[in-house]
Amino acid sequence: MNNTVTIVTGGAQGIGRAISELIAQKGGDIAIFDVIDGSEAKASILSKGRRCEFYKVDVSDLQAVQNAVDSVVKDLGRVDNLVNNAGITIDKLLVRMKEEDWDSVIRINLKSVFNCTKSVIRHMLKTGGSIVNISSIAGVMGNPGQANYAASKAGIIGFTKSIAREYAERAIRVNAIAPGFIRTKMTDSLDEKTKELTLAAVPLKRLGEPEDIANAVYFLLSRYGSYITGEVINVNGGLHM
Ligand code: NAD
Repeated sequence: MNNTVTIVTGGAQGIGRAISELIAQKGGDIAIFDVIDGSEAKASILSKGRRCEFYKVDVSDLQAVQNAVDSVVKDLGRVDNLVNNAGITIDKLLVRMKEEDWDSVIRINLKSVFNCTKSVIRHMLKTGGSIVNISSIAGVMGNPGQANYAASKAGIIGFTKSIAREYAERAIRVNAIAPGFIRTKMTDSLDEKTKELTLAAVPLKRLGEPEDIANAVYFLLSRYGSYITGEVINVNGGLHM
């Protein structure tokens, strides 16, 4: 990862922040795209002796993403890797799900992956690159109350495989990770009963940590993953196998 530049969407907190920190620890520079303040994450990466820029950008807005990617190239000189990690949940049973609940989740979780990938790919065409998309166990198995979220995360898998096939000859690898239940702000809001039931179903008998996902992302981005493309790796403690 030495001296590479990696864009991490949703990198200000949670899984995205753990990914950014690990890549920085391994010698890479980071560009964080997020809608919340990323100054703390940025300061932490700078303290590791790596370069880091934070861009306040809504990844569901194509023009804003294109502008931010141009700024990354201007500020950090290149783009080698992209981690499409930003995402939200608006969980409701279908009968209660409003059109805007569907549209927002698809826009922020899935259209953002199109926006960011389209914007970086032209910078990778000559140099090669690596892209990791954060899907979900919900996109693989489905989950009641998450039809919008599961559809967005399943969509990411189809997108990943298509773009992997499209750009393999340009030495651009595209993979996905499907995390299980990971302890972040996203899962904090779930009720205790849901957390208990989930934990009981995990063969490894613990919830995942953001670092568990960061390790898998690093593996795929780095030379260790150099012969892997179009793959979806489940990182879920055995919850789905
Ligand atoms: P999180 O809520 O802690 O972090 C998500 C980040 O995305 C936040 O920093 C948020 O500000 C950012 N974000 C949201 N909307 C954005 C937008 N429009 N533009 C830019 N940034 C935006 O959640 P997390 O648990 O760290 O989730 C990270 C990813 O992992 C998500 O895609 C999520 O769906 C996926 N995931 C999480 C779990 C889990 O158990 N936590 C499981 C499977 C998949």
